[in-house]
Amino acid sequence: MPENVSPLRDHGDEPIARDSRRPALDGPAWSILAVYDTRDAAVLTCSAVERMVFAGRPVRLRQAGSPDEALEVLKGEPDAALVLIHTAVSHPEGWVGLARMIRESLGNTDIRIVLMTDPGSSAPDQDLILRYEVTDVHVTGQHPAEHLVTVIATSLRTFDRLRIIATQREELQRLKHSVEQHIEERAAPPLNTEQRLRAILDASVLPIFITAWADGTVLYANESARRQLGLVETLPDAAIWCAGEDRNDLMRRVQADGVVNAYEAQVQGLGGRRFWSLIAAIRITIDETQGVLLTFNDISSRKAMEEELKRLATTDALTGIANRRFLMDHGEREMRRARRYGSDLSVLIIDVDHFKDVNDRWGHTVGDAALKALVDCCLGELREIDILCRLGGEEFVALMPETPPDAALTAAERVRSAVAGMTVSAEGGVSFSMTVSIGLTAPRPGDAALTDILTRADEALYEAKNTGRNRIVVRV
Ligand code: GH3
Ligand code: MG
Ligand code: MG
Repeated sequence: MPENVSPLRDHGDEPIARDSRRPALDGPAWSILAVYDTRDAAVLTCSAVERMVFAGRPVRLRQAGSPDEALEVLKGEPDAALVLIHTAVSHPEGWVGLARMIRESLGNTDIRIVLMTDPGSSAPDQDLILRYEVTDVHVTGQHPAEHLVTVIATSLRTFDRLRIIATQREELQRLKHSVEQHIEERAAPPLNTEQRLRAILDASVLPIFITAWADGTVLYANESARRQLGLVETLPDAAIWCAGEDRNDLMRRVQADGVVNAYEAQVQGLGGRRFWSLIAAIRITIDETQGVLLTFNDISSRKAMEEELKRLATTDALTGIANRRFLMDHGEREMRRARRYGSDLSVLIIDVDHFKDVNDRWGHTVGDAALKALVDCCLGELREIDILCRLGGEEFVALMPETPPDAALTAAERVRSAVAGMTVSAEGGVSFSMTVSIGLTAPRPGDAALTDILTRADEALYEAKNTGRNRIVVRV
């Protein structure tokens, strides 16, 4: 362990408690373990994971202050999805030892290992990263809590996906073996092997079928394939492919490699239900007919997870509104749209006045609560079509489509006075008020990018700060 950090335990600090207000959910929790030896990393992780829900399942955070402690926790958590190792432990002695113990002593090859390093620290050794299958290395960025939520969600999704693929691969090999055994047994004609095999395959919850290479005729379909996909033996399988090109593409891959483990396609089941499937396919010969054995796994929930991941990546973790990444992407589009259709667009930059004093006086937690209250207040004064984003810190941008500057000024004035009139009440009977300064601008013909507009809004904001704060300056 490096000398410049000391384990949490040495401070006598208890690991940070999880939030007891977490909503109760039905799904099993994702279990993750965070290993750190600085209190900052602990606070950051707890605030990122606090009440985090991914794919309808809560996240259960286990914490450890040293590699040994981490190993003890993991022994009792064989299904843990992810171990996050923070910078301080990422000193070679710390993380390498832990990764080795996880992979070798515990023999856990499923768990994702993610290293979180500080911007200043040197890059971890690539050979060791590969040897111990470290999933990812992240440099803690400008918006750490938000970034961490995305990192965690990405790892959980990968964990889930690999689990499905592994199960599917095993199932496919087992099936291939059963079918081949059946064919062998049939050559020497005993006892009803056909019925026996059908019974085995019909017991599988996965749709399994064999289709002729040449024309897609279904040579065999198990009970699930008949029931879920509506497949009928002797008829083609064409109806189940939402995009016919997917089938051709899959066949090309099977032809090239003999087996395909994780092909994703949208398929249509009985009753027209469309769903995303993870398909495994393997070439097989039956009675001298070239065919393909396929199994389907419904991955709609994982696809939903991917959507959620996208949402998380563009959402500010603290306030739940859009973040800077979303603003940069969406703002460019709004700007182009306004230009193309000659429509109005106004942009506000809203910055809290003397916010540092709030933190200094009441602490960071109260500061966070104040930012949430501020967002609620602003949203109450803006329209549905306006988009409020957190640019970072205590600075926000409102994109106001179809809004000329004079109407935007009226709205900005509403925001300013609503914030000034608001009382923030926080834990421990604390109450205080805040004000904001606002810069307002609109696109000009010479603007090449959104950043030109934001720079101008920022100049207006700067003037509002310099001329007394709690005011709006327009620069169009
Ligand atoms: P000014 O009126 O000039 O804008 O003064 P200011 O104090 O608001 O501006 P300054 O940029 O000096 O300080 C911004 C402060 O915002 C500093 C930082 O601690 C705080 N801050 C940034 N992000 C967060 C956050 O996520 N939570 C909390 N509680 N505070 C934050
Ligand atoms: Mg400020
Ligand atoms: Mg600021």
